[in-house]
Amino acid sequence: MKKRLWRIIAALCLFASSFFIKEPALLHDGVLVCAYLLAGYDVIWKAVRNILRGQVFDENFLMCVATFGAFALRDFAESAAVMIFFQIGELFQSYAVNRSRRSIAAVMDIRPDHANLLTESGEVQTDPETVSIGDVILVHPGEKIPLDGQVLEGSSTLDTAALTGESAPRSVGEGDEVLSGCINMTGLLKIRVTQTFGESTVSKILDLVENASSQKSSQENFITKFARWYTPAVVGAAVVLAFVPPLFIPGHPFALWISRALNFLVVSCPCALVISIPMSFFGGIGGASARGILIKGGNYMEALAKCSTVVFDKTGTLTQGTFSVTNIFPVEVSSQELLRLAAHAEFFSRHPISVSLTDAFGRDSISEELISGFSEISGRGVSVLVDGRHILAGNRRLMDENGVALPSGEMQTGGTSIHVAADGKYLGYIVISDTVKPDAYNAVSALKDAGISRIAMLTGDNAASAEPVARQLCIDRVYADLLPQDKVCKIEELISDGTPGTVAFVGDGINDAPVLSRADVGIAMGGVGSDAAIEAADIVIMTDEPSRISTAIKISQKTLRIASENIVFAIGVKLIVLILSAFGLSNMWQAVFADVGVAVIAILNALRAMNSRML
Ligand code: ADP
Ligand code: MG
Repeated sequence: MKKRLWRIIAALCLFASSFFIKEPALLHDGVLVCAYLLAGYDVIWKAVRNILRGQVFDENFLMCVATFGAFALRDFAESAAVMIFFQIGELFQSYAVNRSRRSIAAVMDIRPDHANLLTESGEVQTDPETVSIGDVILVHPGEKIPLDGQVLEGSSTLDTAALTGESAPRSVGEGDEVLSGCINMTGLLKIRVTQTFGESTVSKILDLVENASSQKSSQENFITKFARWYTPAVVGAAVVLAFVPPLFIPGHPFALWISRALNFLVVSCPCALVISIPMSFFGGIGGASARGILIKGGNYMEALAKCSTVVFDKTGTLTQGTFSVTNIFPVEVSSQELLRLAAHAEFFSRHPISVSLTDAFGRDSISEELISGFSEISGRGVSVLVDGRHILAGNRRLMDENGVALPSGEMQTGGTSIHVAADGKYLGYIVISDTVKPDAYNAVSALKDAGISRIAMLTGDNAASAEPVARQLCIDRVYADLLPQDKVCKIEELISDGTPGTVAFVGDGINDAPVLSRADVGIAMGGVGSDAAIEAADIVIMTDEPSRISTAIKISQKTLRIASENIVFAIGVKLIVLILSAFGLSNMWQAVFADVGVAVIAILNALRAMNSRML
């Protein structure tokens, strides 16, 4: 870019010196031709190369035709000036594009450059890609954690801002899971690697962000199509303009209309649009990722901006997903034995209920060798052999479907009941309860403020535990007792009931991946946790805060607004100047100013999309 800048400055000097070298005319013109070639040789070269490739109509071609035309009309100064201004515009554009790319790269500066592998001969610096699962690595203060793992020794605080947009540091100690991409701030950590580099959080996030620009919004697609027919149409119009009017208007020479046609060509350059629209989306996606919101493409941004319905999953999304055991009601066994069986049965599941039950019993007291034949029945519970006994643990539906008779009489609720049966015999139930996330209420009211007309909650849990949560959060529609496939049906119903706007579904990826992919926009929360969620979702929220959803909607709406402004502004100004130049009311200088000016303004506007602080 520096080189280009110097070239433009040199061309400008040559151009200026031509004012002082009036005589002989040949020298004057020669200086201008040199200025022209210095500024524009690459444009000519690109135009020639594209013509050879069969892609005739682009802005390089337009510039060449216009400036060659000006030479033919012996307007040497004009020709050189047009080329210089065009290059100033191009330089500015590449500066702006670079700047936005760089700041997104800075945001996403999570790629680790090395891992300190602990080997028998001591610490060795290696490429993170060569480290395998089970290896032990050291992370010094100030370094990035290169791979996902578990802390073996040491304690420290982590800066997770690059992953989550969360500025508060997180403290970790022995036994804690750590994610790649976080920065170790204070202590030395010895970490056992649990994921290869390719499967680590860092790689997944980078993949996702790098691929985001391949999923285009309809505005981006419109511009691509527009550019495809626009340039040939403009060239056609210019030819007509150059040769038809002089035939019919007496006293008008060809030269007059040819020069008007050339102005017309210069103005018509579509660069402002072609660059600024993708840049708006690129900026919006980058701005969102700085706040821990990963958007997989412009099309999802567009869908989110048009969202009128937000549907939440309950467990783990609106609620914390860490249950505490509030009561145990055993039948014929002791409370401790009931909890022991349930904890063993649930040991291999990643469902929040299972994790909480196992934790309540004590993960270390689990005898893994007793457990076999584990299977999870989604939306119902688990079925497993513990010590040779067939244990079922889950909701009432699981019991009914397996012919386990529940004792008659009122059941104690006030939470979620996990029923347990052994070899077809009912052993009792454990009542567990979850708490609503601290910012869930604000999240719902922020969505209402953002103009979301319908907010609903779907859950596989029973109505008795779902309704209090909904009431507390002022969510008016609750659909309880749903199996994963029922959740898909409900979403389809909401999509097709004729309400304008799109339907977004927010889930944690556990038992709801099909819903995430079926909704117009699938949003996964706490994305760093669940692989299924990252894959099925269109948008991943890196933190556990539901309030980020309204932020994502606002960023999307702002980005779309900026893109539309640019389309209207650029096409509008171009049309006006095109008409003026067709009637000879503007000269080529003004035409170039119009073109470069529009491009600069549109690009500055696009840069606003990146700045999400203004929300
Ligand atoms: P949600 O829609 O609230 O996220 P899920 O669809 O994940 O809930 O589960 C619905 C219900 O199925 C739970 O409330 C629970 O009763 C039962 N269930 C699902 N998975 C399990 C499991 N692994 N262990 C016990 N119960 C489960
Ligand atoms: Mg769930």
